[in-house]
Amino acid sequence: MFWSIFLVALPAVHAALIPSVHDHNDESHAVSSRLPDTWYQPDDHPVHALFKRGAPGDGTNYPAVGSPTWSSAYPVTSPDVNQLPKEWVNALNAAVSAGKIPNIPQSSNTPGVNPVYPAGSDPNGQQVCSATYKCRIPGDIWDGPTGTFSISFDDGPTPVSSTLLQFLQAHNEIATHFVIGVNILQNPQVFQDIINAGHDIAVHTWTHPYMTTLSNLEILGQLGWTTEIIRNSTGGRVPKYWRPPFGDSDARVRAIAQEVFGLTTVIWNSDTEDWSLTSGGTTQSQIRDSFIKWLTAPSKTPGIVTLEHELSTESVTAFMNNYPMIQPNGWQTGSLARLIGSSVYQNSKDPNSPVALAGIVVGASTPSAGNSSASGTSSTSQSSQTQTTTSSTSTGNGNQSSQTSNAALVSRDIPWNLAYILIAFCAPTLTAMVSILA
Ligand SMILES: [Zn+2]
Repeated sequence: MFWSIFLVALPAVHAALIPSVHDHNDESHAVSSRLPDTWYQPDDHPVHALFKRGAPGDGTNYPAVGSPTWSSAYPVTSPDVNQLPKEWVNALNAAVSAGKIPNIPQSSNTPGVNPVYPAGSDPNGQQVCSATYKCRIPGDIWDGPTGTFSISFDDGPTPVSSTLLQFLQAHNEIATHFVIGVNILQNPQVFQDIINAGHDIAVHTWTHPYMTTLSNLEILGQLGWTTEIIRNSTGGRVPKYWRPPFGDSDARVRAIAQEVFGLTTVIWNSDTEDWSLTSGGTTQSQIRDSFIKWLTAPSKTPGIVTLEHELSTESVTAFMNNYPMIQPNGWQTGSLARLIGSSVYQNSKDPNSPVALAGIVVGASTPSAGNSSASGTSSTSQSSQTQTTTSSTSTGNGNQSSQTSNAALVSRDIPWNLAYILIAFCAPTLTAMVSILA
């Protein structure tokens, strides 16, 4: 048996939002971490209902990437919190009611400056624990497994992604691409090229904001729409990882990602600062020096997780210039998502494996701490927005049968992974057993 993925690109015109500032650096190497083996999330995890899909062969037709049907389902700029699928809002409210979303204040910031919290909220304290301030929350990914160099790129897809793809292919490497929603709308052909080349896709939000400055509903829109467009463009694969823009996450933001969408938060431990090559913030020489320092460190624990971008010719060049040093220094290279966990997606081992017929494969369900707020809204200005309605163009409600496309399909046949298929077919039984045992 074989599995097919289908994607065709057509032009789409939307405004892109390209980030300009990444101003935080973390080169500390602490304890190596690796997610536990995956298992099937209990049936009551919201992600089951939010991104439900039928069995292969059920007639589901995903719209061609880049087609009008495909692009019309998504916001062209920052998501309107009044147009979020009601299932997402309901899942958020349920998580809040269950005490799973810490009730901590939003930060505020001016462009280019790290977010600040109101007096009385310690960004390094356990309650807030802001990643911007280097506070690490258990379960979030900062480090790679010992001896590994995790390859990942943020901010794509962009026109320079094509150069990167050619380089990666020439060196037989797969990368994890943390993608921006509006950039996908702007560059659908490049996005399709990334997918068809077999790379791994993860979430980098819809418009690249400082996430801790947002309300709960705004966070919902940023993560939900990006998760949805990835699912809807990869044959139904639900992403498993997300990386906050500027590395800006905290206990509240990461809890919404985990509890509503099943997303694990990924930061980094080695910042190239390559985003600032075009603004004079760093130079190719300085980045080379950083690589030499990381690659020749006396210990290979933890593994190296870099912050790199497919944002400019210069940033892509930085990776291509320094990649040849990695393996000769004894490091194992690989896609970040494949090195830190046992599956790239929540319902599929990787782009070449089938999508599970039932159940969602997830990593560790990490503990959530802190107090919970009383509703799904966190800002005083949004108290009336708990009664949001389902967007008429929503594709997040599992009703994929309404999504049709007349575009030709490009199929790619891939051998089954026997063990994985066994798990996929046995998912209902396994989840039932888990429920009984629990
Ligand atoms: Zn970014």
